[in-house]
Amino acid sequence: MLTNDQLAQWDRDNFFHPSTHLAQHARGDTPSRVIRTASGSHIEDRDGNRFLDAFAGLYCVNVGYGRQEIAEAIAAQARELAYYHAYVGHGTEASITLAKMILDRAPANMSKVYFGLGGSDANETNLKLVWYYNNIRGLPQKKRIISRWRGYHGSGLLTGSLTGLEAFHKKFDLPLSQVIHTEAPYYFRRANLEQSEAEFVAHCANALEALIEREGADSIAAFIGEPVLGTGGIVPPPAGYWKAIQSVLKKHDILLIADEVVTGFGRLGTMFGSTHYGIEPDLITIAKGLTSAYAPLSGSIVSDRVWKVLEQGTDENGPIGHGWTYSAHPIGAAAGIANLQLIDRLGLIRNASDVGTYLTRTMAEALADHPNVGEVRGEGMLCAVELVEDRNGRRFFDPGRKIGPQVVASMLAKDRVIARAMPQGDIIGFAPPFCLTRTEADQVV
Ligand code: PLP
Repeated sequence: MLTNDQLAQWDRDNFFHPSTHLAQHARGDTPSRVIRTASGSHIEDRDGNRFLDAFAGLYCVNVGYGRQEIAEAIAAQARELAYYHAYVGHGTEASITLAKMILDRAPANMSKVYFGLGGSDANETNLKLVWYYNNIRGLPQKKRIISRWRGYHGSGLLTGSLTGLEAFHKKFDLPLSQVIHTEAPYYFRRANLEQSEAEFVAHCANALEALIEREGADSIAAFIGEPVLGTGGIVPPPAGYWKAIQSVLKKHDILLIADEVVTGFGRLGTMFGSTHYGIEPDLITIAKGLTSAYAPLSGSIVSDRVWKVLEQGTDENGPIGHGWTYSAHPIGAAAGIANLQLIDRLGLIRNASDVGTYLTRTMAEALADHPNVGEVRGEGMLCAVELVEDRNGRRFFDPGRKIGPQVVASMLAKDRVIARAMPQGDIIGFAPPFCLTRTEADQVV
């Protein structure tokens, strides 16, 4: 067996890690972390150290680690048919079945699923479909996309532009000009101290409307948002936010893309964030929870309204010029089917709701008097603790002090609990697997 030192050397010499300080890693200043196995809510490294993974990987291993049913389904599919493409009407039993299972669970008025591999490419598909849609409707000027500061929608050129976090733009010349950003529904940070939630919601809707009027509604195709802001800080919207936003979008004939990469398939304690908040999207992006990350698979769910125009487009222009080699990969589809069956059979969405609510409540109680905790918030199996320099004066830490990463490192070293320091702001994020028990939740707290 390779020694840890040998692996660490190979790692530094050969492996380009995503979202990593490259120079520090190459110098060996940050440890190589080699994870060997996992089960339930715990992961284990090569030395046998066990950690409670309170972020489910990257909030994606929703059903928990080590699910043999999913592993078996993947193996069976690989043995029978590891791959065939989905171009020109081809399919497999797995991909056709999964498309039906997704539509059976999706919000009303959804028509078809286009399969991809990850959240970024699924958002890219949705953006292309929006442009195609407006070209077919004879509105070639109506193309720009509005997203929110602190939104996260991926790391591609256009999806990285949608992402409203500076860390993903810096030195990459993003955002591209097709994307414009608007106010995030981040009451704790953005509202001024006298504003009620309702007033802040009205402010967000007014800011959106002012932006649309300034830029011209005839230049704007779509608005994209996560039902709950995720990577930007785990921020559930104030009551009434989505209703107010949708009424502005409808008025200006602007499509709504719900990015449900994190919220889809149960993370909020309901199947979709859209139904949770009464959102009526024209397109939905799904990934992570679709397979609980047992295999890479994503999807763009297209509404009846958009689908009709896409059909018309192909009657006029021939086959749609958009395809990935691995779209609807049979192994991903087999993982997706087994994953959704497991979620149903074990009632995991109910557990996400029950234990997630318990986690946020006990966290809020435990930290109620802490002078550096400004807010504890959550929804379903998502929870965040926002740290401040002084809770009474609502003074925030200087971002340069990196308090969040320090707390997370200490939790890892001392408590063997994995949380995530959310980029920007001093926010500790929790998004455990849905199978988390109350005892494990207590350990996280
Ligand atoms: N959209 C949201 C809401 C996400 O949280 C993410 C990833 O975290 C993405 C899109 C991008 O997904 P991927 O990393 O699979 O490309």
